[in-house]
Amino acid sequence: MPVVFFFTEKDDVKNYFKEYFMAHCIVPAAEKILDKEFKVLDKGFVRLVDYYGSDQRIIQAARVSYGEGTKSVSQDEALIDYLIRQNHTSPFEQVVFTFHLKMPIFIARQWMRHRMGRMNEMSGRLSVMKEEFYIPSIENMDPQVKDKLERALTPLEPEEARAIQKDFEKGQKKSYESYKSLIEKGLAREIARINLPLSLYTEFYWQMDLNNLFRFLKLRLDSHAQLEMREYAKVILDLIRKVCPLAVSSFENTILNAVSFNGEEIEALRKVMAGQDNPLKGKKLDRLLTKFKTGQQL
Ligand SMILES: Cc1cc2nc3c(=O)[nH]c(=O)nc-3n(C[C@H](O)[C@H](O)[C@H](O)COP(=O)(O)OP(=O)(O)OC[C@H]3O[C@@H](n4cnc5c(N)ncnc54)[C@H](O)[C@@H]3O)c2cc1C
Repeated sequence: MPVVFFFTEKDDVKNYFKEYFMAHCIVPAAEKILDKEFKVLDKGFVRLVDYYGSDQRIIQAARVSYGEGTKSVSQDEALIDYLIRQNHTSPFEQVVFTFHLKMPIFIARQWMRHRMGRMNEMSGRLSVMKEEFYIPSIENMDPQVKDKLERALTPLEPEEARAIQKDFEKGQKKSYESYKSLIEKGLAREIARINLPLSLYTEFYWQMDLNNLFRFLKLRLDSHAQLEMREYAKVILDLIRKVCPLAVSSFENTILNAVSFNGEEIEALRKVMAGQDNPLKGKKLDRLLTKFKTGQQL
């Protein structure tokens, strides 16, 4: 005998199944992007495999201390913003993402420095590596500049960049041919691979909570991070925005697009606002002005 429920209001449904709604967050916008590959660089991608929690989970977790449930959207937004401003980070750890990533090994090496992520990578011991290498586009081939963590504003001449691309291609082909021939001769895969270059693509699953992901994004979206790394970070930011738009918007305003000022700088700002001379001179003054102009943390 089927059981039929009659509800007069949408909220009645929500209240009746309150346990269910509190237990598992489903975000329609996020469901749409699940399992899709978002292209990065020439052969890489980011794929959101799964997510656990949403803006609502952050709010539920934060309100647990008061025993209060969800309130209006504007109150929720204000609460999330307050938590971010106050560095009350633990509610953000309640939201977790699993990504499937494909990237060149030299980027994966930087990725792995983020110790709070959990990962499982493809094995060059158990499987034969595919012939997939990264070649930077012509626009991404810059000369070395004085500030080693910055890229030059003027890229190389296209001919010069094309010649370098060819050179990369040649080296990659040669090393892969040598790898294949060693495998065919019966050498163990784990030894045969050791001359493969850092431009080889690898894949891994990566799980990270939102609090640590914000930290990762702050570091890796910064202009000091390697351009290829930033390309992945940009895609990740767009994907997580679908899962927890309020938290991401607050993060962008309060952390990502913000700079901090040290004691001397704050003091100088106070003096300037009071109509007095700026006490900062030379490099210190340059740094303060550049922070204002560029929004870069220096
Ligand atoms: C532009 C740039 C240049 C860089 N250059 C270099 C370089 O030249 N050489 C180099 O080696 N690295 C370099 N790094 C890597 C950098 O030093 C960090 O290792 C990396 O960014 C990871 O940052 P994290 O420790 O905050 O992240 P996570 O490891 O994810 O840690 C997140 C938070 O958890 C804390 N945490 C994590 N593990 C522990 C632990 N075991 N004990 C206590 N607290 C912990 C951290 O303190 C941090 O607050 C560079 C990073 C950037 C962004």
